[in-house]
Amino acid sequence: MIRPWRTLPAIAQMGKILYNLMIVSGKGYWYGEPPMSVILKRRTFLKFVVTGSVTGMLTLLMGCRRRCSWEDLDIISRDTWRAVPPDVEGSVEGVYDAAANPGGWYVYPQPLAEVLNTIVVHHSALPLSDGPLEIQAKHLSTQRYADIAYHFVIDAAGEIYAGRDLQVRGAHTGGHNTGTVGIVLLGNFEETMPFEAQLDSLKRLGRCLRDTYRITHLAGHRDFQPGVTVCPGAALWTLLPEIARELRLEYGIEGYVGPPKP
Ligand SMILES: [Zn+2]
Repeated sequence: MIRPWRTLPAIAQMGKILYNLMIVSGKGYWYGEPPMSVILKRRTFLKFVVTGSVTGMLTLLMGCRRRCSWEDLDIISRDTWRAVPPDVEGSVEGVYDAAANPGGWYVYPQPLAEVLNTIVVHHSALPLSDGPLEIQAKHLSTQRYADIAYHFVIDAAGEIYAGRDLQVRGAHTGGHNTGTVGIVLLGNFEETMPFEAQLDSLKRLGRCLRDTYRITHLAGHRDFQPGVTVCPGAALWTLLPEIARELRLEYGIEGYVGPPKP
């Protein structure tokens, strides 16, 4: 994807080239020897052609390099981490019903680009050795959810694991799961700092989610439920505004839309 703000310098150079072209081809200079000022302008013109082309190429290349690539994320599939299939019937979530069970297991009927708006960042508050398999087991047995609550898990090395199907509403942020993407980073960031590799993966994943599904906002779990949770832990929470800025997302909960009306 070509980003306008990256190509603006190239467009400015093109403008200069056209301007100089108009000057050197101006009527009256082509009879006899051109004056020195025109020769100099021709040199300037050539300089702009070269610098304009180089700048243009570089900005276009940078625009391409920063493009989201789901393949590069190398997301570890549920089969690979040996996830068990969701158990909707046996869960507290139950099957969604607009009137009888609005909080139930809800498969978005519309394309995700029309639903998703906010990335919600969590910490696992568990030992680093507890990965997606352990979290899913805990969510299924202790919480009796239908599946792991989060859509993505990022471990200490920055590996990204597929969690709950993205087409299914999460169960990660009380009362604010419709249209939010739940991403959990392994660790307890009330006690330790997140690893650089984790933050890097969060940004790369966030960029892909933003570009693919028109996500507009990023927030921490506690932004949605202040006083209820300290998730994603102080050390990660304080980094979120800067991460949102880097991803060109708004920070906060204002992008939240809410559940569909029955
Ligand atoms: Zn949380």
